[in-house]
Amino acid sequence: MLENKVALVTGSTSGIGLGIAQALASAGCDVVLNGFGDADEIGRLRQALSEEHGVRVLYSGADMSRPAEIAEMIRQATTELGHVDILVNNAGVQHTAPVEEFPAEKWDWVLSINLSGPFHAISAVLPQMRARNWGRIVNIASTHGFVGSVHKSAYVAAKHGLIGLTKVVALETATTGVTCNAVCPGWVLTPLVQKQIDALQSRDGLTPEAAKHRLLAEKQPSLDFVTPAQIGAAVAFLASDAAAQIRGAALPVDGAWLAQ
Ligand code: NAD
Repeated sequence: MLENKVALVTGSTSGIGLGIAQALASAGCDVVLNGFGDADEIGRLRQALSEEHGVRVLYSGADMSRPAEIAEMIRQATTELGHVDILVNNAGVQHTAPVEEFPAEKWDWVLSINLSGPFHAISAVLPQMRARNWGRIVNIASTHGFVGSVHKSAYVAAKHGLIGLTKVVALETATTGVTCNAVCPGWVLTPLVQKQIDALQSRDGLTPEAAKHRLLAEKQPSLDFVTPAQIGAAVAFLASDAAAQIRGAALPVDGAWLAQ
């Protein structure tokens, strides 16, 4: 479906980003992986993805909080794979604290990776997408792009901002073959969420299963986690020709979190 396309997925060494990289590779894309982790483990991931799907897989360790490294990653991907057709801004981090205790450096850190990183990546990749008159930009926002939750001021602000950025890029590219959309996951069981389950478990003396249930019951009516593969499938759909007129949308994949 997406053969001969090159997809760059930020934060794809783990969790949702890895699910997206797998979905795009299985649709035929060459893939650029990005994110942190053990070098051997990342090497194995690269090889497995490449062998399973018969695609080229590149890795960049660019830090999404550093604009110069983002520009270098796009340059490297373009040089080594020829072009970048699909950009998925997925890398994201969380820090929780009441707003009056929220450390300023944590605010800057969350904003730099979750919001400024996508801006820098979009501005670096858009010229070549415009030149070919084809491109797909998908920003992984969150249900927290629409609603708040206590103790997540930086994350919620960044995700609301990311949906705003998505709309503006969609408008500026509206008459071209480039589209820009957001996907808004509810709870997905990844390392980012496991940390919050662990905190709930030790705070309230719960079993792991009870802590998971409480986390879901507070927000997600389906009482079931979304999977990285389901987010990957949503991104692959937005990258397809069928989605060419879906522009500036923010698609919830959230077990009815936002229906309440
Ligand atoms: P995760 O912690 O499992 O993975 C995050 C990825 O980003 C990893 O590959 C990590 O190495 C990478 N990363 C972290 N800091 C980076 C940096 N400075 N530069 C480059 N890469 C960096 O997280 P996840 O749960 O898979 O989250 C992925 C995205 O989905 C995030 O944007 C998150 O906000 C969003 N999201 C997650 C959930 C959820 O329930 N897990 C819900 C809604 C939205």
